[in-house]
Amino acid sequence: MTDIVGTPLRDNQTSGGDQNMAAMNMDKIDIESDEWVDGFSAHELFVKNRGTGYTYEDIILMPGHIGFGVEEVSIEAQLSRNITLSAPLVSSPMDTVTEARMAIGMALQGGIGILHSNNSVEEQVAMVKAVKRFKNGFITDPVCLKPDATIRDVLEIKAARGFTGIPITDTGAMGGVVVGIVTNRDIDFVEDVETPLSEVMTTDLVTAPEGVALAEANALLKAKKIGKLPIVDSDGHLVGLVSRHDLKTWRDYPNASVDHETKSLLVGAAIGTRPADRDRAAALIAAGVDVIVIDSSNGSSIYQLEMIAHLKESFPTVDVIGGNIVTVPQAKALIEAGVDGLRIGMGVGSICTTQEVMAVGRAQATAVYKVAKYAAQFGIPVIADGGIRSVGHITKALSMGASTVMMGSMLAGTEEAPGEYFYHDGVRVKKYRGMGSIEAMTKGSDNRYFSEADSIKVAQGVVGSVQDKGSISLYVPYLRKGILHGLQDIGVRSITELRDALWSGKLRLEIGLRSARRLRSRRVASTRL
Ligand code: GDP
Ligand code: 5GP
Repeated sequence: MTDIVGTPLRDNQTSGGDQNMAAMNMDKIDIESDEWVDGFSAHELFVKNRGTGYTYEDIILMPGHIGFGVEEVSIEAQLSRNITLSAPLVSSPMDTVTEARMAIGMALQGGIGILHSNNSVEEQVAMVKAVKRFKNGFITDPVCLKPDATIRDVLEIKAARGFTGIPITDTGAMGGVVVGIVTNRDIDFVEDVETPLSEVMTTDLVTAPEGVALAEANALLKAKKIGKLPIVDSDGHLVGLVSRHDLKTWRDYPNASVDHETKSLLVGAAIGTRPADRDRAAALIAAGVDVIVIDSSNGSSIYQLEMIAHLKESFPTVDVIGGNIVTVPQAKALIEAGVDGLRIGMGVGSICTTQEVMAVGRAQATAVYKVAKYAAQFGIPVIADGGIRSVGHITKALSMGASTVMMGSMLAGTEEAPGEYFYHDGVRVKKYRGMGSIEAMTKGSDNRYFSEADSIKVAQGVVGSVQDKGSISLYVPYLRKGILHGLQDIGVRSITELRDALWSGKLRLEIGLRSARRLRSRRVASTRL
């Protein structure tokens, strides 16, 4: 055997390296020396080597030492100056990603949703209200009927909506005085469908007072062996309903993002930079929105600076996130105007063609690092927006200094995203479109990409579809767990520790994997042939 590495030691050999090294003519390696330190610090990679932009795909993080369990890792994150989340996850203000249902789901999981503004002010305000009204396990807008409605009405609701448990109020609407309840048991054996509900409804009601905790309401449902529990205010007006059916579905969300005073879920909303958007912002804030995101493809504009100044002056207690930007001078302008957070990314979204059409943009890892480092001096957190295609990309974005990541395509295939599933080439998908696509602009989002007077629109985005990902109630916990493991592998217990390692140069990066991966996939492809 000639293989030195594989040759077993003989009795008279020492196992220490010195003799072997002497035999191999090698110097002793000093792993602390500059020469032997792995990879680059972020500063060396992004600042010293400033002519090259790096994407998430271009870089890989060196693992650290795992001296703690994954349960010790926290991914608490700062969204903006005054808003902290228990997970660094934000859903994008796009009309195929974030409406009320997504925003509720994201907030329950410790992230936040930013409601899109490709709609009327009333529609966007209604979404804010729906999120704010949401109470875990409570139906806050139950379908009601009047006492003079008939069994036929109940059967119609059953056919259309799938339930028969209907509170009867004097007005036939939520907010009226509860006078009874109709369930399956009340109507099952009645043959005449024209029978008025006043004749069959249960009037011997069990109700719970407004403000009751979900656990108490559930205990009452069990104790009284009933299926529906109307929640009433002190005057007997209906304010909600709890259904036994939901008992198993609803669980506690200890990580939910909530406003600790009002106990409502946190929600953000996007606006543009037109004069009319000032009214939109005022209406959203009146409805209780927690953070306003100014949505521009190039946020470094006089219009955005004026909007920031206006919002900070008129609504000083509401956080404003500006963007999108990718350079330090752009960040400087927005920070000086008073933003509480920044959104970074230009032309890197999966459905976006800005870099091809406009010839501007920046590789996202470089953009995130430079802006995050600058903004950190002012205590301004940054959102890495766009180009997140895997959980590893989230960890990379955080490792470049982002406090949170914003996702479009990652979430567009979930049940909570707007729109219906359909089949494309046998795969169950949902539509996902760029807000700068002709299709979305035709619906109104050209504010973000063009001025009203433009008769020729140049698309900066495309329409596509993304594969079914199921519910975010399972998908977001998967993302959370993936980030926890990523941080553990890097050897840090929190996003704060990660940023300390980044700024100090302890976090090491290497480049070049992309070319290596390409070669590998080419090899695989040729094997297949
Ligand atoms: P029911 O007994 O026929 O009313 O139906 P279940 O209680 O078995 O299921 C009703 C399901 O529909 C539950 O998951 C409810 O949360 C949901 N739901 C949504 N909106 C309403 C509503 O307005 N009224 C009722 N009764 N249920 C609703
Ligand atoms: P994704 O997560 O799909 O990679 O990227 C989502 C992000 O792409 C959004 O948050 C938004 O910043 C950006 N975006 C959305 N629509 C468009 C578009 O039509 N054109 C461009 N340039 N960017 C878009």
